[in-house]
Amino acid sequence: MSLSRFPPRSIAGRLRCGAVGALALALWLLPQPAICDDGLGYTDTPLLPNSPWRVHDRQRPQPPTVTPGDNGFATPPADAIVLFDGKDLSQWQGGDPKGIEHAAINILKTGELSTKRHFSDCQLHVEWAAPEKPDNDAMNWGNSGVSFLGRYELQIIESHDHKIYADGIAGAVYGQTPPLVNASRKPGQWESYDVVFTAPRFDGQRLIKPAYFTVFWNGVLVQDHTASLGPTKHRLVATYDSRETTGPITLQYHHSAVRFRNIWVRALQPTAPLQH
Ligand code: MG
Repeated sequence: MSLSRFPPRSIAGRLRCGAVGALALALWLLPQPAICDDGLGYTDTPLLPNSPWRVHDRQRPQPPTVTPGDNGFATPPADAIVLFDGKDLSQWQGGDPKGIEHAAINILKTGELSTKRHFSDCQLHVEWAAPEKPDNDAMNWGNSGVSFLGRYELQIIESHDHKIYADGIAGAVYGQTPPLVNASRKPGQWESYDVVFTAPRFDGQRLIKPAYFTVFWNGVLVQDHTASLGPTKHRLVATYDSRETTGPITLQYHHSAVRFRNIWVRALQPTAPLQH
């Protein structure tokens, strides 16, 4: 084919050329193929509502880092329910008690834990530590999470040396809202969360108030009355597909030896009695 035939002079030729151009433009506009094996995020996930960013968007900026002060280790007040004080798993469903080591829970050995009591609105204090070095699967170094109503996850993962998409670092409302700042300590050191979680409210099937997170990470505000889009999803936009307004607090098992200690909760709504 000689170059003299471009651009095509016939109407049919011009139409063909236009169709090829339109197809090329459409392909260019399509999301790029998923990049899912490096832990740094995706380019093919759906856009979050009212946001320029996709779920787990690899382009989303990381929050600035703030070195925390040497605080955040509050002892329980008188009206708190102590969920773990270093001794036993009596407040938790299941879990292998052999996973308690040096007065701390090793979630890799206990397995996932959910409180026997169910909570609605609550204030939670929990201390956690990622392993000092990557363990098992390096991409999941320090991966765990604390979930309210068993489904609304506040992310836990090593976030000082390990990189992951912004809405997946510690302090994130997972898959939705990165923390305002990254207040992580060095891997292996104890960190703390102080959380106020308010459960969603429904009028029949209709959502009238979303769930909210306020979170202090090592004493630093990282979620400021952040509305949740719904129970946590991976690679999908969360929606209120559940009408639950009470549920357990869950410590997630995610293939890493994350440790926990000094866990207590203040119920801000009446709670169901402890089930045996
Ligand atoms: Mg997690």
